[in-house]
Amino acid sequence: MTDPSPDLSSALAADVLLPLALDGAYSYLVPEGMVVQPGCYVQVPLGPQIRIGIVWGEPRPALECEKPERLREMAHVYDVHDAPPLSNLNRKFIDWIAAYTLSPPGQVMRMTLRVPAALDPPPVRFGYRASGQVPERLTPQRARVLEVAGEGPAWSGSDLASAAGVSSAVVKGLAEAGALEKIALPALKPFTAPLPQAQPVTLSNDQEEASKVLRKAVIARDFSVTLLDGVTGSGKTEVYFEAVAAALAAGKQVLILLPEIALTGQFIARVDERFGAAPGGWHSGMKPRERERVWRGVAHGDAKIVVGARSALFLPWANLGLVIVDEEHETAYKQEDGVRYHARDMAIVFGALGKFPIVLASATPSLESLVNVDRGRFELVRLPDRHGRAELPQIDLVDLRETPPERGSWLSPPLVDAVGAALEAGDQAMLFLNRRGYAPLTLCRTCGFRFECPNCQAWLVEHRFRRQLMCHHCGHASRIPNACPECETEDALVPCGPGVERVAEEALSRFPDARIAVLSSDMIYGGEALRQLLAEIVAGEHNLIIGTQLVAKGHHFPHLTLAGMVDADIGLENGDPRAGERTWQLLSQVSGRAGRGEKPGRAIVQTHMPEHPLMQALVAGDRDGYLAHEKHMRERLDLPPYGRLTGLVISAASMGDAERFARELALCAPPAEGVRVLGPAPAPLALIRGRHRVRFLVKSRRDVNIQAFLSEWLGQVKPKGSVRLAVDVDAYSFL
Ligand code: ADP
Ligand code: ZN
Repeated sequence: MTDPSPDLSSALAADVLLPLALDGAYSYLVPEGMVVQPGCYVQVPLGPQIRIGIVWGEPRPALECEKPERLREMAHVYDVHDAPPLSNLNRKFIDWIAAYTLSPPGQVMRMTLRVPAALDPPPVRFGYRASGQVPERLTPQRARVLEVAGEGPAWSGSDLASAAGVSSAVVKGLAEAGALEKIALPALKPFTAPLPQAQPVTLSNDQEEASKVLRKAVIARDFSVTLLDGVTGSGKTEVYFEAVAAALAAGKQVLILLPEIALTGQFIARVDERFGAAPGGWHSGMKPRERERVWRGVAHGDAKIVVGARSALFLPWANLGLVIVDEEHETAYKQEDGVRYHARDMAIVFGALGKFPIVLASATPSLESLVNVDRGRFELVRLPDRHGRAELPQIDLVDLRETPPERGSWLSPPLVDAVGAALEAGDQAMLFLNRRGYAPLTLCRTCGFRFECPNCQAWLVEHRFRRQLMCHHCGHASRIPNACPECETEDALVPCGPGVERVAEEALSRFPDARIAVLSSDMIYGGEALRQLLAEIVAGEHNLIIGTQLVAKGHHFPHLTLAGMVDADIGLENGDPRAGERTWQLLSQVSGRAGRGEKPGRAIVQTHMPEHPLMQALVAGDRDGYLAHEKHMRERLDLPPYGRLTGLVISAASMGDAERFARELALCAPPAEGVRVLGPAPAPLALIRGRHRVRFLVKSRRDVNIQAFLSEWLGQVKPKGSVRLAVDVDAYSFL
């Protein structure tokens, strides 16, 4: 305690939440002369360090605190003009999520405090403008610079040099000679205000009806959830853009959430076109400068539209009035580490707390949302038809037991014929396989040795393009050896089963003239390269697109007429309660890529179980029938959305430690009505990144306060040593 002790009788103190996994906010003295208010960003001492935090409550007399003489003083408060205080609503939202997910509030708040640089005054850089003074020595190069510098407001040194086609030394020389004057420029590009009606489309009757409902919800300025349920290509995006326009007209900010950052590039361009201004983007792949610009823009209310990944919910919204959750059924909305939250569900909480509407859009809505419609909590708006003349594709099954591919290949004769015909006709075709890499397993033909990850309980996946064996759980990578590590036989290693790279290899040998594009999430495309590849596909530069689930999502490829599913059964066999629903969504989404333009589309589904109700419903286009079957099953088994599933994962450096702690926990589970604790049992993935894992599954009725139950239970024993306990309320992953 090195702070000089101030007079406590008149001093104020305030709670400050730090972006750390602490139990709650800490109290600090407000030094004399400092003014703070709730939501202010401050610097405070913590141990020997100074940390940035947020004032989490009204300042109050220091003497009301416990042990006021031990309080330390705040070190600094950020100017509210640079960093507007985080609103009451945002703070309430953070507290709500912390309580719901059983996370420390500081750990949730850390998602807001991601750009500390944005708290300081905005950076400036210097630019040049012609001063009107003519230099004594006027070379042609210098003249060119002055000519360029006379146009426009001001130029950065490097832009000016390159526009005039000279070296930056010429620009410097002119500045020294007084012919260019230096002026301050904003370092971050300001946001242009979007215009609600910059480039609207004329809506069809159905679309107009749907957009009316959404506009009404926006104008009501109250909480509501509307599910916009329309087949792929029905114009959902155009329709919810009308809601965005209404929110903009009301002076509100809008957040459009997308499940996949790979999609943001194409989407930002579309928003730009519709509203005449580029929206802010928000995702993990952004450069720090852009991140800072968007954070500030959101905090000051200048960024009116943000297109982002789930973490955009935690931006410091000044005036949020609408959240759109596109592809709401996507499980990518669930964060699976740190704070385990579902962005769709938390967007709805945000709307409820802030009294604004939420729009969920999907061609294959989640069972959760459909059941909320049944219960009368969400309003439903349907767009049953594709826009224009486009029709939904005809779907055919290929029974792999009766019509198998040739030995060592993966495409059955009917699928090969269909791809050939599409290419012949000058159309695009797509082959979908939800498995990355070349082969999911590599083994030795001589001794049967299988390559397994040293850190995880998982086979290594061959990635032939990179010439590596990789673990999809921890990223472990090693070169593919020539000889078997076990029996040392040369050239005896064989890949088993197909990944998307192997399908590409087969396609190349069957269709040597095809222009093939492979899209897979692990082909480190970075935003830019992927955006370019997608644009090339839209432009028709590639005619055979082969990919993992990345191809299923939201793309609009007008020339695509055939979608082939190489193995539709992947994913149906695991024990996940949502496996059927997810497979249904994925297959519907992939088949929905076909026939979005002038020509009708077709989908071919290779399966070993054509009699499965899911496959039958897919062929018959009987969505309601399939969903009724799925709802019935879930309800009977008390699975979500009828019951609740919470996962508890215990991990430790050794299996013994993990099991010991799990047994200890099991012994003190309090009895509770409507709650069943299953486990402990080794997790299906019992080893990840060198950590051994044991799980509990807690099944509870919806009316049970599961947080209270968990707090009471988990408060009794604390994990020690290498043991960690992760709580996953509303679990989506069961590995
Ligand atoms: P969804 O989001 O349901 O998949 P989109 O909104 O992306 O559908 O629409 C599919 C395609 O049809 C897009 O290219 C879109 O611009 C176009 N489209 C949809 N509705 C209209 C309309 N009323 N007028 C013109 N083009 C439209
Ligand atoms: Zn691994």
